[in-house]
Amino acid sequence: MTDLLIKNGRLIDPSVNLDAVMDIAITDGEISAIAKSIDPKTATRVIDATGLLVTPGLIDIHTHVAAGLRKAGTEDMMGDVDTAGVHSGVTTVLDAGSTGAYNVGGFVNFIVPSAITRTLALLNVGTLGVTRAPEVRDAADIDIDAGIAALAARPDVLVGVKVRMVTPGIRTLGIELPKAAKKMAEDAETGAFVMVHIGDILGQDPIAAELAPQLLSDVLTEGDVVTHSLSFQVGALLKGGKLLAEAKAARERGVVFDVGVGKANFSFESAKQVLDQGFVPDTLSSDFTEMSRFAGPTHSMVECMSKMLSIGLPLGDVIAMSTSRPAQVLGIDEETGSLAVGYDADITLLELANGDFLFRDVTGATHKGKQAFRPVSTVRAGEVIPVDYGPRPWGWLPEQG
Ligand SMILES: [Zn+2]
Repeated sequence: MTDLLIKNGRLIDPSVNLDAVMDIAITDGEISAIAKSIDPKTATRVIDATGLLVTPGLIDIHTHVAAGLRKAGTEDMMGDVDTAGVHSGVTTVLDAGSTGAYNVGGFVNFIVPSAITRTLALLNVGTLGVTRAPEVRDAADIDIDAGIAALAARPDVLVGVKVRMVTPGIRTLGIELPKAAKKMAEDAETGAFVMVHIGDILGQDPIAAELAPQLLSDVLTEGDVVTHSLSFQVGALLKGGKLLAEAKAARERGVVFDVGVGKANFSFESAKQVLDQGFVPDTLSSDFTEMSRFAGPTHSMVECMSKMLSIGLPLGDVIAMSTSRPAQVLGIDEETGSLAVGYDADITLLELANGDFLFRDVTGATHKGKQAFRPVSTVRAGEVIPVDYGPRPWGWLPEQG
């Protein structure tokens, strides 16, 4: 007997060229069979997924889920892991530097183990993470030895270091700011990578644009991640509407480019400019916080996916950016991120709804789309988890317009 059988769904996993209506069986928390038709009598529990997409469990590679911490200088709180995760159709989240070396312990020791969602995290290069505003003002906010100790103590959770190229740290420290993050990651000798937030949302300091080429050419190496790749902010990948040549060169060296939609790091115009120059980011993420979930302009990972469809990315690309590719970046691609026998049974059931949907960005611009994702059910390590009501007064789907 198998524990769970999901029947008649449209299984989509671009990483193994799978897009077909099939059945998928789960035993002992793992995917045990995928076939055209599996006898329901062989399963303890059967879910009818007729009309639904069945994808590898979604992976959100930029979230803020150190719940209870407040982002200094704002009213925004770090959100609940399972709200960003399994209750939103997402089976794995990466917390992108909500905590630093001096306050990571509570998160790693208490929040992460109590979550249903697979939870990994980046250590902020600033000792106090988001609870200091801004997290790095000068060198006194960085403690490399403490960072190395934290990374070395919990490599099972802490897979990298987060640094933001924002005011005032970029002015006081210059290129030494991301270099400090790189040193922390390398000297920990745990295989940690660096994720860099590009775009000076705090100050629009021209030095951000001056440092960007150097950051891409001289600091980041294979496996490091640039988040907010479609941003319009000063110091992001666009200069005068043109994509930095250093971005293409960095990608050829294996640097990963993430979308990180977020509250203020994406506009339809800048997204079009980047995509029109042939540069499609590798991974998609939400930059989830408690406030972003309800205030938007992007309320959930699935809404980020719908936005990507609306700007012309093909369905398969959007799924891959949200499953197999982030799994590779996180080094968990032999356990999750694919619909293949032997993988952990991390699976998302999605409705791809048709309608006249209206999407918004932080500049006030709107964009229309004909399709939007709604999470229907999440399977995490074989356990079926219901999704919650959703972030909008009416549920999950974007507004109609
Ligand atoms: Zn973030």
